[in-house]
Amino acid sequence: MTAATPDSATSPPAREPRRLARLTVDHAAIVENWRFFKKQAPNAAVSAVVKADAYGLGSIGASRALAQAGARVFFTATHGEAVLVRKALGEGPQIFVLNGPTAEDVGAFASAKLTPILNSMAQIKLWDARAPAGLHIDTGMNRLGIGPEELTDSVRALKDVSLAIVMSHLACASEVKHEMNALQLKRFVDAATLFPKAPRSLASTGGVLIGPDYHFDLVRPGVGLYGSGGLDADNPKLNAAATIEAPILQVRDVLPGETFGYGATFTAAQKMRTATVGLGYADGYLRSLSTRGYGFLAGAKRPILGRVSMDLIILDVTGCDDAQPGAMVEFLGPNAPLDDIAALAGTAPYEILTTFAGTVRKTGVR
Ligand SMILES: *Cc1c(COP(=O)(O)O)cnc(C)c1O
Repeated sequence: MTAATPDSATSPPAREPRRLARLTVDHAAIVENWRFFKKQAPNAAVSAVVKADAYGLGSIGASRALAQAGARVFFTATHGEAVLVRKALGEGPQIFVLNGPTAEDVGAFASAKLTPILNSMAQIKLWDARAPAGLHIDTGMNRLGIGPEELTDSVRALKDVSLAIVMSHLACASEVKHEMNALQLKRFVDAATLFPKAPRSLASTGGVLIGPDYHFDLVRPGVGLYGSGGLDADNPKLNAAATIEAPILQVRDVLPGETFGYGATFTAAQKMRTATVGLGYADGYLRSLSTRGYGFLAGAKRPILGRVSMDLIILDVTGCDDAQPGAMVEFLGPNAPLDDIAALAGTAPYEILTTFAGTVRKTGVR
């Protein structure tokens, strides 16, 4: 090995060779899901939350498709994410930055016409009445936002700022009947009266589904746009936005008593046919899906045998003639639904999207 020169230390790394899994993003499905929220909240504007690279699916493609369908308001988490979305969309749409400005990026909001959400007295001071901003009021999540004891000060500090929105965020929106929802609703209504001219926004995906009392002027669905319908409000049928497939590398016939993979955690009780697939936790496929997850092939779920390893998974394909090297197996999509995979992995659909879809998007076959 040669020592790294200063040049090679600062230049970007060579692009990773493509891995074997393939992500397909269905932008029409994202648009259809957005229209579902428009039907649910007919009296509110429906924005699109595209933070974290549109939950791993690619914020540029998702934002463009949604803008074309009529979305006029977008939310990112950071200034950097918002700059990318602005480049993709051009001048028209409004782009809010949920995490607000930092000392480093506060001067760069104006040139891309980005609107920060101000989440603290410190951010209000930093913004210093430069241009329109949003205000986040904390109503019980204790994560970001102006607390009850700071409300009066914030009214004074914001007297010269045009407020594009006053918002809060629900802690338990995915549980329609949770008592936090009504409590936060009341606190939000009370606090928002201090800013009578500002449009109001409270609901994320779950909040839209709780009901019209939660809609106000603008709703902010995120995960629902990307196909999570596993919320307990009427269990809406949202469309799968991401499909991930990976190829079978080998097929084996295995005798009773044989074991599979690291730790030999699964033993064949009878003769089996197995398929080794080129997918693993290096692709963001969670190891917690070992012995619990499945791939979908030729009309049926094919259970994972033993542990997920770095680049490989073993499936039970007994009796499946379509299981041949090169055949593609679906691990996320219409036949391996996001909410189902998240439940089996013991996590939230958000993490499946950002970790699995996000990783395959960056490194997988296109
Ligand atoms: C992420 C986020 C949303 C979107 O939430 P989903 O549950 O994905 O719909 C809305 N508002 C805020 C403040 C958020 O952080």
